[in-house]
Amino acid sequence: MVKNVLSLVIPCYNEQESIPVFYRETCAVLEMLEQKNLGAEFIFVDDGSNDDTANIIINLSRNDGRIFYMIFSRNFGKEAALLAGLQKSRGQFVVTIDADLQDPPSLIPQMLDPVISGEFDCAGTRRVTRAGEPPVRSFFARRFYRIMDVVADIKIVDGARDFRLMNRAYVNAVLSLSERNRFSKGILPWIGFKTKWLEYENIQRTVGKTKWSFWDLLFYSFNGIIAFSTKPLAAASVAGILLFVLSIAFIVFIVVRRLVWNDPVTGWASTACIILFCAGIQLFTTGIVGAYLAKTYTEVKQRPHYLVREEN
Ligand code: UDP
Ligand code: MG
Repeated sequence: MVKNVLSLVIPCYNEQESIPVFYRETCAVLEMLEQKNLGAEFIFVDDGSNDDTANIIINLSRNDGRIFYMIFSRNFGKEAALLAGLQKSRGQFVVTIDADLQDPPSLIPQMLDPVISGEFDCAGTRRVTRAGEPPVRSFFARRFYRIMDVVADIKIVDGARDFRLMNRAYVNAVLSLSERNRFSKGILPWIGFKTKWLEYENIQRTVGKTKWSFWDLLFYSFNGIIAFSTKPLAAASVAGILLFVLSIAFIVFIVVRRLVWNDPVTGWASTACIILFCAGIQLFTTGIVGAYLAKTYTEVKQRPHYLVREEN
C-alpha cells in the first residue's frame, strides 16, 4: 500500500532559537502518525533570516532525509514563504505551521482526522482568546474583522490562524491564485471548500520575538481590504455625490438669503473652512484610487513572489 505523506510547511524568519525545539516537538507527533501509516516531509522556508536559521536548517537536513529547505535571497514576507512551501510540497496532506510553537504541533492528529476521512478539505485553527496580546492590538484586530465583514464579500473568521491542514485539492486551489498581493486570510475563504474549525487558547511565544509591529499589522490589514474589496472606491464616489448635493443646497440657501433678506455675503472664515474640507476629501479619495492603482501596478509587473538562493 502506498503511504500517504503529510508535508509540513514552515516559514522561518530569524527563528534560530525556535527551530530545534520545534523540530523535537514535531518529530514526537510525527512518530504517532507513523503508526497510522502516514509519512512526513518538512519544508523549511528560510525567509532571508539574518541570524543562524539557514545553517540550523541545513544541518538538520543532513541527519534527516525528510527535511527539505528553501533559503530565500532576502526577506520576502511570510505570505511569500508560505506560497513557496506549498509549491514545493508533495504530500497528499499539507499543514502550514509557524516555527515558534505558537501553533501547537500536538494539534496535528486532531486536524488530520476530519480531512483524512474525506469529510472536510481543510482543518483550520482559530484562537478563542487573545490573552497575552497588547489590548490596543486586540482592539484594532477586532475592528479589522468588523470592517472586513462589511466591505468584503468573503467571510473572514475572527482569530483564524495560518495554522491549517489541507488536502491536495485544496492546496492546488490555493496555488491557482497567482496574485502578487497575497493575503491568505482572504484567499482561503475565497476559494471555498469545506473547512473544519478547531479552537484553542492563545499560546504565547516562548523563545524569539514576534516579527510584527503594530504598524506592520495596520498596513497588512489595509492591504487585505484593498485586495478583497473595491467598496472604498465606491465610497469615494458616494462621498463626492453627497458633497455635491450639499453644495447645491448651500447655493440655494445663499441665493434665497440674498433675495429675501437682502443679506450681504459675510465671512471669509466659513469659505476657507469649506475649501479646506473639500480639498481634504479630494486628496483622501485620490489616495484611495492611488492605493488601488499601486496594487494594479505591482500585479502588472509580474515580478516573482520570491527568489531562492539555495534549496535541496
Ligand atoms: N515569518 C516569516 N517571514 C516574515 C515574518 C515572519 O517567514 O517576514 C514567520 C516566522 O518565522 C514565524 C511565522 O512567520 O514562523 C509567524 O511569525 P510571528 O511569530 O512573528 O508572527 P505572530 O505569531 O506574532 O503573528
Ligand atoms: Mg508567532
